[in-house]
Amino acid sequence: MSENHADLIVLGAGPGGYACAFRAADLGRNVVMVDPRETLGGVCLNVGCIPSKALLHAAEVIRETRHGDEWGISTGNVSVDLDKLRAKKDSIVEQLTKGLVGLAKRRKVQSIRGTARFTSDRSLDIDGEAWTFDQAVIAVGSAPVRLPGWPEDDRIWDSTDALELREIPKRLSIVGGGIIGLEMATVYAALGSKVTVIEFMDQIAPGADAEAVAILRAALEAEDVTIYTGTKVTKVKAAKTALTLTCEGGFEGTVKADAAIQAVGRRSNGSLVDPGAAGVEVDERSIIPVDASCRTNVATIFAIGDVTGNPMLAHRATHQGHVAAEVASGHAAALDTDLIPSVAYTAPELAWAGLTQAQATERGIPHKIASFPWGASGRNLSSGGGEGLTKLVYCPDSHRLLGATIVGRNAGELLAECVLAMEMGATLEDVSLAVHAHPTLSETVGFAAERALGTLTDM
Ligand code: FAD
Ligand code: NAD
Repeated sequence: MSENHADLIVLGAGPGGYACAFRAADLGRNVVMVDPRETLGGVCLNVGCIPSKALLHAAEVIRETRHGDEWGISTGNVSVDLDKLRAKKDSIVEQLTKGLVGLAKRRKVQSIRGTARFTSDRSLDIDGEAWTFDQAVIAVGSAPVRLPGWPEDDRIWDSTDALELREIPKRLSIVGGGIIGLEMATVYAALGSKVTVIEFMDQIAPGADAEAVAILRAALEAEDVTIYTGTKVTKVKAAKTALTLTCEGGFEGTVKADAAIQAVGRRSNGSLVDPGAAGVEVDERSIIPVDASCRTNVATIFAIGDVTGNPMLAHRATHQGHVAAEVASGHAAALDTDLIPSVAYTAPELAWAGLTQAQATERGIPHKIASFPWGASGRNLSSGGGEGLTKLVYCPDSHRLLGATIVGRNAGELLAECVLAMEMGATLEDVSLAVHAHPTLSETVGFAAERALGTLTDM
């Protein structure tokens, strides 16, 4: 056995990798975790979920302050100190990434800073050092997709650049109306940019419920965000004074911008670890296929998180990390991937899990809809909320919940009840008979169920 040996080596210290390493250590394994980043936490903590949510909170504070007038509260013009905001965001990231160092130490997980590549199904190279392992977990995540044919220019950003808060561009174009595009539109519109979102598909947040997305779209437009759907950028010219994006499709013409964000999806980092040397299959999109136990085609090697494909979400990576650690340690575990919640932390938030109405129709699954508009929610109105909707998809025979979409303030938090209901096979009756506190936004879930059952008295 070589000098450098571990029971289990985890490649990548993102939410998948560190969750897997910590769970395996808790199960008594000798674990090494490798990542080239200076800090632990991967994309999520360093340049993803956490910094974006910090900026979205700032955006919410700005919007609330601006809308204070309606409540008789005047604070004068809102001004933003970009250096202070950036420092606040960075301090939150630092607190969380440093916390992980403590959690790793407490579990005696050895953390190595370096880039790992397989040399066989039992060995790795970490920056020139040879390591052997009994088992390995690939958790190397993903990177932003770059659009071909765009010029090299400092004013063309990916999500990491956008989170750096270099400046507040007067005119900001965002190509891609998925979750990153819409969250960044929410942030920069509040900071004062004139934002244009250019989305290739006929709907922003493609895949989410169309009725709910229409509410989000109207709210973004009310904040002066221009949205072009069904539109493709065919040419980008970078002149000294501005970027010019030529568009075709739903919008035909040019958009001038002082900065542009490419937010057109992420690509798995699978091929970067030389999986072929270990005999691990990787597809043409660099995704490493796994089964529900997170096993690759090689018995000793597992893969988790973004590297295994969509949905590329931190909570999926974490759950897969636990599954891989448990299976690798001799326990039975699997992940039911149908019930992974998605949340866009926009204003209002858009959250969904399980089947949407359109998916149920497309798949020929018998279903009915239970919904409750937030215009009738006392808590929504009394807390300054705008339009919102709680929409449940359910089976007409068993009344079991099949899916849920919520658009409105705190929709991401409210969705948890629906996910638990679906996970436990709850019916509309279960949801409506559970007493929801008044006045809360969570009542809208109970009200939607009551409305479908004909027992609602609040409308
Ligand atoms: P990652 O977090 O990508 O971590 C992989 C790690 O592997 C990295 O640290 C990398 O340095 C390391 N690595 C790469 N190559 C090697 C190698 N050869 N050897 C060793 N290590 C290597 N998801 C949500 O659920 N909620 C959100 O609110 C959310 N917001 C987001 C906002 C933005 C702007 C972005 C970009 C993403 C967001 N995501 C969000 C997605 C989320 O960040 C990812 O799904 C999640 O980080 C994936 O976790 P992971 O462990 O698979 O990989
Ligand atoms: P995405 O796949 O969610 O959205 C990309 C969008 O760009 C799609 O709507 C797509 O139709 C569009 N698009 C693709 N090519 C285009 C083109 N040439 N012109 C115009 N539009 C084009 O990807 P994303 O928003 O970049 O996010 C990447 C990943 O990170 C996703 O998996 C997402 O789930 C995850 N993420 C999650 C959160 C969250 O959970 N809150 C936040 C940010 C990112």
